[in-house]
Amino acid sequence: MNAIETPLQKAEKAIREAEYIVLGAGAGLSTAAGIHYSGPDFQTAFKDMIDRYGFTDLYTSSFYPFQSEEEKWAYWSRHIDYARFAPEGLPLYKRLLELVQGKEYFVITTNVDGQFIKAGFPEEKVFEVQGDYGLMQCATACHPKRYSNENLVKQMVAEQHDCRIPSELVPVCPVCGGPMEINVRKDGYFVEDERWHARANDYYHFLEKAQDKKLVLLEYGVGFNTPTIIRFPFERMVASFPDTTLIRINKERSYPQYLLGDKYIALESL
Ligand SMILES: [Zn+2]
Repeated sequence: MNAIETPLQKAEKAIREAEYIVLGAGAGLSTAAGIHYSGPDFQTAFKDMIDRYGFTDLYTSSFYPFQSEEEKWAYWSRHIDYARFAPEGLPLYKRLLELVQGKEYFVITTNVDGQFIKAGFPEEKVFEVQGDYGLMQCATACHPKRYSNENLVKQMVAEQHDCRIPSELVPVCPVCGGPMEINVRKDGYFVEDERWHARANDYYHFLEKAQDKKLVLLEYGVGFNTPTIIRFPFERMVASFPDTTLIRINKERSYPQYLLGDKYIALESL
């Protein structure tokens, strides 16, 4: 009699045998990879702002109603640098890249920290649905263009004092002259430019191609903030595609296993 396979062995086997892999990632992946939105790393990096504004973590702090553009950008430049620019090629992301080598693969992520591409995933295989901390746009989306903010953010971090950036560094829209915002979906003004639409199309074409093949949906750290983007579609796909396995890596196991039988594998980490 064969030994019973562990879920990890089952997952490894499914990945080994897959022709196509869709990697779907949420916030839990970047947390597992070492970008901590609370705890000691956050407390050290944001001590002055924690003292001034009472921040408890880097998620709720992003809703703080700053009174001026100078304060808003002092905070956001630090937030963006911490989560987007400072971390380089995180090992867990690199491990995922190794895992999909030799397969047809595509990435869909709600993360806006750019870490897939920093770890070496080709840009044309990564659909960042909710935007990118490394890009700015007009706050009222007066024109559909996104702008790199890397140099500006680094300058803002370097030149801020007393939780404010110098006024001359405050970005303004080159078209309407109004304020700029980070390109992250949070209201009706999110800018989807040509590149965004190209990746969206690539993703749907990939699914069309993969739907009747040996496909693994590898879901990592996707919670319930925006489950309609990855989590629920993955559940629908595994239920309706003929040869698809859903591997869900999550600290919280919240799907009834019996509904999908062997097509569903739950892991807490990889
Ligand atoms: Zn504008």
